[in-house]
Amino acid sequence: GYLAVHYGTKTTRKHQKKEKIDKYLYSMRFSDDTVKDIMNRFRRDMENGLGRDTGPTATVKMLPTFVRAIPDGSEKGDFIALDLGGSNFRILRVKVTQDKKQPVQMESQVYETPDDIIHGSGSRLFAHVADCLGDFMEKQKIKDKKLPVGFTFSFPCAQTKLDEAVLLTWTKKFRASGVEGMDVVNLLNRAIKKRGDYEADIMAVVNDTVGTMMTCGFDDQRCEVGVIIGTGTNACYMEELRHIDQVEGDEGRMCINTEWGAFGDDGSLEDIRTEFDREIDRGSINPGKQLFEKMASGMYMGELVRLILVKMAKEGLLFEGRITPELLTKGKIETKHVSAIENKEGLKKCMEILTRLGVEPSDEDCLAVQHVCTIVSFRSANLVASTLGGILARLKESKGVARLRTTVGIDGSLYKMHPQYARRLHKTVRRLVPDSDVRFLLSESGSAKGAAMVTAVAYRLTEQARQ
Ligand code: BGC
Ligand code: MG
Repeated sequence: GYLAVHYGTKTTRKHQKKEKIDKYLYSMRFSDDTVKDIMNRFRRDMENGLGRDTGPTATVKMLPTFVRAIPDGSEKGDFIALDLGGSNFRILRVKVTQDKKQPVQMESQVYETPDDIIHGSGSRLFAHVADCLGDFMEKQKIKDKKLPVGFTFSFPCAQTKLDEAVLLTWTKKFRASGVEGMDVVNLLNRAIKKRGDYEADIMAVVNDTVGTMMTCGFDDQRCEVGVIIGTGTNACYMEELRHIDQVEGDEGRMCINTEWGAFGDDGSLEDIRTEFDREIDRGSINPGKQLFEKMASGMYMGELVRLILVKMAKEGLLFEGRITPELLTKGKIETKHVSAIENKEGLKKCMEILTRLGVEPSDEDCLAVQHVCTIVSFRSANLVASTLGGILARLKESKGVARLRTTVGIDGSLYKMHPQYARRLHKTVRRLVPDSDVRFLLSESGSAKGAAMVTAVAYRLTEQARQ
């Protein structure tokens, strides 16, 4: 009777509020057709990136990595892995043995990379890396050894071999001067030499996506794609060498770093970019660049939500129109807040977060903000599903199989921390590439283990060549 009716009106009100926001953020909610359409645009861009004539100026760069195979289990040795460009700067010692139970042992340490260092001069940045490496070797008591080093460097680099990587452009928060156009192996070697108290043999530079693919490939031989959804976003996959015009040879495969973060930089996503995306871009350190990344990755998601809330408050749709200096401050809503708001008990969290911004939220405001978060993070999952779907559809076509069986190695703070992201992504990808069995494998130990694998293979090959 009465209770049921009462409950009914309450849910209706909730429903109406959601509908209102759905309408307001209409252009951020993608239909299946839109997702498919974006996938097809990305497939065309991948094709362009690989082509001889179109490659050099392509938006999606499709960079050869000179990694030709995933680990085969015969790797062994004692390695150092550097991991620069993700949410943490880490140094690891990775011991790879033939032990069945625990083939890989790792010890790691996180080092700070303060803003003044990543925004300062390149020589200072690499001096800092060399200092941290010295400190690490000291602590590990291996300063007298010349261990092979694998360098996970999570930025777009042009490579003509494994141990040379010319930085094409900084992305994310990095902008140290004098590094773009330079070989980062050379810069690091020079910094180490300048110290002069230890030696290191940098054998491989790998993108974090490549490291992730290799890490997962160690556990699952079927792994042929690596994806990062964290501060930035990107993917790599194994491509047929005969399709890679920039690299000699037709036999076998090579890993391609797609650099999908730059998708849209030629204007191909203008129809789906919103005023909020444009505002994010204008306020960034690299306007006009990494436009796909700015719509999808963790570095920008909290800020996207904040910009939407500011506009809604200004229009009186939230907080009875209250606007506070905190709400207007860049960075006050972080991606981890978005994750918390969409979690169980999210409404309580939402109340806390908004209260801290001084906007005196009502219960209804909290519901509305939670819904805004869902729309923004769902859009990100849809975007990444489109590009990943494009890679998988391409793999399926190259293999000429009726059903694609494959494994995607995946990592990144947004993917790992957000309560619903992974499920939404997997579901949409499977819908986009219907005849497929896709296994998503979370890289538990990050990309550095994979970098050590690549180094192990390179080390084995040079040792063999020496004999
Ligand atoms: C970089 C990629 C990297 C990705 C994830 C992007 O900004 O351009 O090289 O793989 O972030 O870290
Ligand atoms: Mg690479």
